[in-house]
Amino acid sequence: MHKRWTRRRLPVLIFTIFFFLYLDFKLPTSNLPKLYVAQDPSPSAPHQRSIQQALSAAKDAQTLATSSSSSSGGTHVTMEKRRHSDVTQPTLKLEDIYIAVKTTGRFHKTRLALLLETWISRTKAHTFIFTDTEDEELGLQGYNMVVTGCQSDHSQQALSCKMSAEYDGFMASNKRWFCHVDDDNYVNPEALLSLLSAFPQDGDIYVGKPSLDKPITAHELLEGNTTREVRFWFATGGAGFCLTQRLAEKMAPWASGSHFEKTSATIRLPDDCTVGFIVEKRLGVSMVHCPLFHSHLENLLLISHRSIPQQVTLSYGMFENKLNSIEVKGSFSKEEDPSRFKTVHCMLYPFTSWCP
Ligand code: UDP
Ligand code: MN
Repeated sequence: MHKRWTRRRLPVLIFTIFFFLYLDFKLPTSNLPKLYVAQDPSPSAPHQRSIQQALSAAKDAQTLATSSSSSSGGTHVTMEKRRHSDVTQPTLKLEDIYIAVKTTGRFHKTRLALLLETWISRTKAHTFIFTDTEDEELGLQGYNMVVTGCQSDHSQQALSCKMSAEYDGFMASNKRWFCHVDDDNYVNPEALLSLLSAFPQDGDIYVGKPSLDKPITAHELLEGNTTREVRFWFATGGAGFCLTQRLAEKMAPWASGSHFEKTSATIRLPDDCTVGFIVEKRLGVSMVHCPLFHSHLENLLLISHRSIPQQVTLSYGMFENKLNSIEVKGSFSKEEDPSRFKTVHCMLYPFTSWCP
């Protein structure tokens, strides 16, 4: 009698155990946002991946924050760490992200005005505009405008001067993430928040997109007028990038005050390369490559309007084929909206007063 009972119940018992084991394995990962952060691309990887490729890879891999560990003790972000940080860290809010926008006097009425009307209107309180010229006319009341003493040109020194001011501005704030963008970037606030929320908030994270398909080579100036060849990844400033507070703090010896411009002069490369140099070569932390950032240097034209809500930053000239031909609710004519930022904004926020 007892034997027969056991024979009948045993398969049920085994099934139940396996079912719970399966659930246990499945649950922690099923909550992950579907975003994709690539491993360092191999030198043989194609120069520009399509957004579609990246997003479908995202679905397959659900890979998160997989910056590879560098030999000098770089970050290796694992899901274990992420879960741990979920427990110990409060949920990230949009206001915890310090967004620094680099601009210059001659772009105030064109590029900057468009940003103020679109995405900055949603992130006003924690967005800081770094420029070189006072502007009474622009109606900047309520915006955080920082008039730096930097030169208003496109030189390495002028741009490093502004990045240095952005870094110092962030360090003086009490925000949890520093993000830099140029004035030809559209920032999608919700996508930015979900990307950054997926990382360990107390980790050393530097995330963005490289403009090159291999690390850049620099000749670091050493004492005695000698040089040393160094290779490192950097996130292109024109696509935007972000750093955790913890990593930004560690960068201080090479990035705070006058140090940033000195470091930039040491490698004779622009501001965004300097950030990559400090993070990867001075601190031994690997950059996290993310395809959700976009600069105007990419001539992608492949972005589908359905994937726009997932993109973290966008730039000019990315929609030539798609948004010009597709009738999107809330779209403007090409003449009314040459950058397509208004069209994107109305797709994301259709109830904005000026949207069609
Ligand atoms: N910029 C600047 N001073 C200048 C020219 C450009 O501060 O004299 C800023 C500009 O506002 C933008 C960034 O530098 O945020 C990059 O400029 P742009 O997009 O014109 O050139 P890119 O380097 O992306 O080709
Ligand atoms: Mn640009």
